[in-house]
This record gives sequence, C-alpha cells and structure tokens, in this order.
Amino acid sequence: MRILITGGAGFIGSHLCERYLDAGHEVVVMDNLSTGSMDNIAHLVGHERFSFIKHNVTHYIYVAGPVDMILHLASLPSPVDYLNFPIQTLKVGALGTHNTLGLAMAKGARYLLASTSEVYGDPLVHPQSEDYWGNVNPIGPRGVYDESKRFAEALTMAYHRYHGVDTRIARIFNTYGPRMRADDGRVVPNFICQALRGEPLTVYDEGERTRSFCYVDDLVEGIIRLMATDVDGPVNLGNPQEMTILEFAHTVVDVTGTQSEITFVRPKDERTRDDPQVRCPDITKAQTTLNWTPNVALQEGLRQTAAYFKQHLEL
Ligand code: UDP
Repeated sequence: MRILITGGAGFIGSHLCERYLDAGHEVVVMDNLSTGSMDNIAHLVGHERFSFIKHNVTHYIYVAGPVDMILHLASLPSPVDYLNFPIQTLKVGALGTHNTLGLAMAKGARYLLASTSEVYGDPLVHPQSEDYWGNVNPIGPRGVYDESKRFAEALTMAYHRYHGVDTRIARIFNTYGPRMRADDGRVVPNFICQALRGEPLTVYDEGERTRSFCYVDDLVEGIIRLMATDVDGPVNLGNPQEMTILEFAHTVVDVTGTQSEITFVRPKDERTRDDPQVRCPDITKAQTTLNWTPNVALQEGLRQTAAYFKQHLEL
C-alpha cells in the first residue's frame, strides 16, 4: 500500500513511518517541520519506499499517484505549542483535516484522524469512555486545541456519512517515548531532562492532577490495528495506568537515579488554566474490537525514553 502520513516527521508520526516501512509498504511523509524535525526521519531518507514532501497541510494538498491510506497526525499537541501558536493550532485541526479528508475522498483512501483525549476536556466522567461528550471551555487557552480536534472529529464523521469515506478516529491519550521534543514543555520530557541535568523537577501546583501514560510502541500498534479493522466511531488509545503528577515525578527520580529534588511551582502564564484534573482512558472498546492492550511497563518505557534524551541532550 501507499500510505501518506501527515506530521510524519513528528514524534508519533516517525514511529508509524518505521512500522509501515518494515511491513513492506510505501510511505509518503508530509510535514512543514514547524514542530517536527528531519532528525526524526533522517534514517529513512534514501529508503526506496520512503519520500518526504515539505508542505503545510492547512494549504491545498497535492499528491501525485495513488494513495491507499492517509493518517493525519499533523498537529501542535503540546500545551506550550498551542499557547504560543493558537491560530496555527486551530488551522491544522480544522483546515488540515478538511484538506486531508478531501484528498482521501479524491484518492479513495482509508483515513485516520489522530484525535485526542483533550476532546473530553476537564472530564466529569472518569475514566473516559468514547460515549462521553466532554467538558471543554471553548474560549479558554486550551480551547484552540480541544475545539479544533472536536471540529476535526465532526468533519471526519461528516465525510464518512455524507461522502462515504472510510474513516477511523483515534483518541490518543498521553503518549511518551523517544523523539519527543526536549523543549515541548510537556511533563515527560520536562521531568526526564530535568532529572538528567540534575535540576529540580517542576511539579505544577500540588501535583495532584492525574494522567495515564502510554509508551509510543504500544500506541503505534493500536493505530495500526485500528487502521486494519472496520470500527465505527472513535476509539480511545492509551494506557489506563493512572497516577498523580507527583507520583510520576517520583517514578522519574527512581528510574533515572537522579539526585534532583522535586519542587512545586505555580506557572504564571496560562499553561495550567483548564488543566484537566484527572485523565484515564477506558479502553474496553480497543480491547474488544482491536484485541489491543498496552503492555510496556512505565518503568521500562521511561528507561528507553531517558536513554534517548541522554544521547540527544547537551547535558
Ligand atoms: N506538568 C507539571 N510540570 C511540568 C509540566 C507539566 O506538573 O513541568 C503537569 C501539567 O500541569 C499537567 C500534567 O503535568 O497537569 C500533564 O501535562 P502535559 O503538558 O504533559 O500534557 P497534558 O496532559 O496536560 O496535555
């Protein structure tokens, strides 16, 4: 198959490229490198079944030749990025999804939207299952990301119902692993890099909010299974092992063996406004329809991630 991956030079996208190439497919990456990096795919350049198109998906998309599958991962998914680039965030979720769905229709391609647990906002139902509609503040700082993905889901379903496009929606929960950006501001790279540098780990507020962290290999396996299975509507992909951010900080200290202390800070900017208090996926649907369950333990995944940052950071 010939597979187009938007955001293929990003963290999750680049892992997907490898998996599809290994399976014998042809992979075309489209990325404008605004937050993705050629470093993530440099080892694939030159592969006979790999090609790269530098393009911003918010503009009209042209791809020559047949396309069998499109995975739309282009996105600005880190709170720091979407606070800094709110309009680009809205455009990539809305216009980028429109353009890629149009391409899917024109090519007769199967389509996957990389959606997010952020569609549930600050959830009033816990854990979150796919039939929960969410609790999102449309005009808050996170609204630019959340609403663009909610719009993207609505558009994907409209193309499915009205135009008959063969679509999938993956609601991706917090995912971590090699090739995250050290400076993307999220808790996993922040804590690991702080630990490796011997700096204090910056727990925001009291560290009482919860998250559930999925290793990238598990997530990618889930996406590949979802793409290969006929499933109606969105599917949660994430690891249901939930913990507070303070517990997570202690885990990072243990795994890295750092001397770093844990500090409590109150960010002055808007990054913790509307920060979900809890987040944990109900993955019953993925388990039953995809026969998928994440199986990389947090300690093991963190070891791999720390090894990556050790190699790539100037410590
Ligand atoms: N967080 C933190 N310290 C940091 C970065 C993040 O305590 O240095 C908290 C943040 O407030 C949130 C959680 O960790 O409650 C996860 O944040 P992240 O930005 O990784 O992703 P989110 O799940 O909010 O999209």
